[in-house]
Amino acid sequence: MINGSVFKGLSRISLPECLADVKTPCYVIDEARLISNAEILSSVIERTGCKILLAQKAFSNYNFYPLLSPYLSGTEASGLYEARLGAEEMPGREVHVFCAAYRGDEFEELLKYADHIVFNSVNQLKRFGKTAKERGKSVGLRINPECSTQSDHEIYDPCAKGSRLGVTRDIWDRDMTDSLIGMLDGIHFHTLCEQNSDALEITLRAVEERFGDILPRMKWLNMGGGHHITKEDYNLPLLEKLINHAQEKWNLRVYLEPGEAVALNAGYLVSRVLDIVENGGIKIAILDASAACHMPDVIEMPYTPPLLDGYPPGIKEHSYRLAGPTCLAGDVIGDYSFDRELKTGDYLVFGDMAIYTTCKNNTFNGMPLPDIYRLGADGGFARLTDFGYGDFKIRLGSSE
Ligand SMILES: *Cc1c(COP(=O)(O)O)cnc(C)c1O
Repeated sequence: MINGSVFKGLSRISLPECLADVKTPCYVIDEARLISNAEILSSVIERTGCKILLAQKAFSNYNFYPLLSPYLSGTEASGLYEARLGAEEMPGREVHVFCAAYRGDEFEELLKYADHIVFNSVNQLKRFGKTAKERGKSVGLRINPECSTQSDHEIYDPCAKGSRLGVTRDIWDRDMTDSLIGMLDGIHFHTLCEQNSDALEITLRAVEERFGDILPRMKWLNMGGGHHITKEDYNLPLLEKLINHAQEKWNLRVYLEPGEAVALNAGYLVSRVLDIVENGGIKIAILDASAACHMPDVIEMPYTPPLLDGYPPGIKEHSYRLAGPTCLAGDVIGDYSFDRELKTGDYLVFGDMAIYTTCKNNTFNGMPLPDIYRLGADGGFARLTDFGYGDFKIRLGSSE
């Protein structure tokens, strides 16, 4: 659990001093870690000539877009609002969008923001492709290479049986016409989740087997996200070899659109102990941060997040279950051990909390949205938001 590299960014500040005035729970976004991730990504761009986009669904804290913009090629969006955010907050950079199904009543507005539009089905390509082309957009179709390289997280596997994501080769052969293929500038696949480049190698082989005849007609190939590029054990040379192989063999440009890798280990969730209760010999610390509200992937994925000065249960003398303040019985963050006893008011700092948190949290139980702080590359510490009762209420109705 204790993982030096996850909390490396905190070594340049005095944590007690920074936390003295903060209201917990809060997220802290670490600029130095964002920059070091972005440097790795931009080195891949430089060495291969590929393009790398920020997948905003993982991290869309736009105050940090100016910091990331010089390193990246643009943003990737899951729909209208993210496309608009990318266009407005990272101006002058590419805006790509993929959506499982676009809406007729939004498509015109979407064309204002996005320059690359990726469709998920032949039907959608037929319905919207011509309009997109007429407006000068680069048009792509998502394929499904039917190649699962992950078994433990089926809800994150777009190649799982019966998946709605991407066109399989049998449907392509049944429904694609020459004029539809002629409309395409690119092919998109997204099948990975937190994986190394060996999984990409297997996937690319499946893409080549199934769609190798189509790729020479394309201008670009978008290999999606899920590449754990900024993780310490990631095999970068293999990634670059695969990018080069694709670009040379099919004479196209490769795009990657990682979310997680851009902001990996670049954020913390700071919380405090509100109470300690006991049940069946287990000590349970109730925190002001909730798994269900503030780190939903802990329950959805599920996983146990890294904790500063926390160890796996049983390693140190004092073991606790850490849990949230909501009424949900399963609002449990995980079991940890410490070399000290926990007491009310203690700070607990969770790591790797920039991704799939601030863009995915909620106010279930009337829980406040945690404020977001910037930990500057220079060690400066500043609050970016001022969430309150109004942010809870506005989602539930209107004042009549
Ligand atoms: C989720 C997603 C991404 C980003 O995935 P990460 O695992 O955060 O890298 C990129 N592209 C598409 C189409 C996605 O659905």
